Amino acid sequence: MSLRLSMSIVGEAEAEAVRRVITEDGYLGIGRETHQFEKEVAAYLGVAEKNVVSANTGTAALTLAVDALRPADWKHAGKPRVLVPSLTFVASFQAILAAGCEPVACDVLPETGTLDLADAERRLTPEVFAVMPVHYASNPWQIDEVHAFARRHGLRVIEDAAHAFGCRHKGQKIGSFGDAVCFSFDGIKNITCGEGGLCVLFNDEEARIAADARLLSVEGDTAARFAGTRTWDPDVKRLGWRFHMSNIMAAVGRVQLGRLEAEFIPARRRLAAIYAERLSALKDVALLRQSPDDFIVPHIQVVRILNGRKEELKAALAARDIPTGVHYKPNHLLTLFRPAAGSLPFPVTERLHGELVTLPLHPGLSDADVHGVCDAITEVLG
Ligand SMILES: *Cc1c(COP(=O)(O)O)cnc(C)c1O
Repeated sequence: MSLRLSMSIVGEAEAEAVRRVITEDGYLGIGRETHQFEKEVAAYLGVAEKNVVSANTGTAALTLAVDALRPADWKHAGKPRVLVPSLTFVASFQAILAAGCEPVACDVLPETGTLDLADAERRLTPEVFAVMPVHYASNPWQIDEVHAFARRHGLRVIEDAAHAFGCRHKGQKIGSFGDAVCFSFDGIKNITCGEGGLCVLFNDEEARIAADARLLSVEGDTAARFAGTRTWDPDVKRLGWRFHMSNIMAAVGRVQLGRLEAEFIPARRRLAAIYAERLSALKDVALLRQSPDDFIVPHIQVVRILNGRKEELKAALAARDIPTGVHYKPNHLLTLFRPAAGSLPFPVTERLHGELVTLPLHPGLSDADVHGVCDAITEVLG
């Protein structure tokens, strides 16, 4: 079988958990299993259960977070704005839009692909109320500086931590501190629920708003459904969505959470270490920079291919049946998010777009598989 760029690592235990929900519980929607998953994620992160809101995708979790944090008393003529790096999955941009706000694309740093705070500062306007750092390739680069920047300018921080479940900064888990931290549990992320997502909102009132908003903003419906009932005489005061996580998804997620520390984290880190060791010797390859303060559980293996050799390498790997990916086409190049004429340029993002290559990485790969990819890269570039 040829290598896969990424894949879900699921098996009998996940299948058994789903079987249990179907044959024993019989209730497939949001209920006991979802409640249990939220409790277990809260315990894993070391946060209160009431600050954790599960959702059906990471994009939904981001939408809920932006919606809950956007100021209630808006005085400006324009929409509320959120600073976000252009180099991210289009989900970050669409979530901001879905929550009634406007993404302000920013340039990134050349060595990490993460938000360039100096560039973000130049794009500040009175409408900007939040900054959304993206932990690109699971790297929470400069997270303290992002928070300091936000405090200095009176902004909120909504972390797109879709890549970063299981990562730590100075020993603290990503998702255990901050304003709002959003994870994705889609099929190929560090853990999966099939599809799924979750946000941690550290302000209790904002967490309550998000918990209701995922169930059409039917007030108090989460507690009722977790208890196996419904709210039959509810009130609704604001916009809401059907963004909840089902019992089936949560059952898969609970098994995956149990496999994270002992199985997935060591496997992802071991494979990434092989890539780092083998590829750092090549003059046409640069690894993304990391801080010794950060414990990284890599969701994707991204490298920079220098000296204009990216396309040559991609073609040579494809010819050897080794898939590569692009993370990501910059959002400012997409029709919907094209910036107004005369706005600041994105020189670093565009240069990186010509350099970045994603290599196969998932816990289903063996050390030999990764050595095989490195052999091929060495052969082409060496
Ligand atoms: C996966 C991902 C998302 C969205 O998560 P989904 O669960 O796929 O909706 C958001 N941002 C980034 C950077 C992602 O990689």
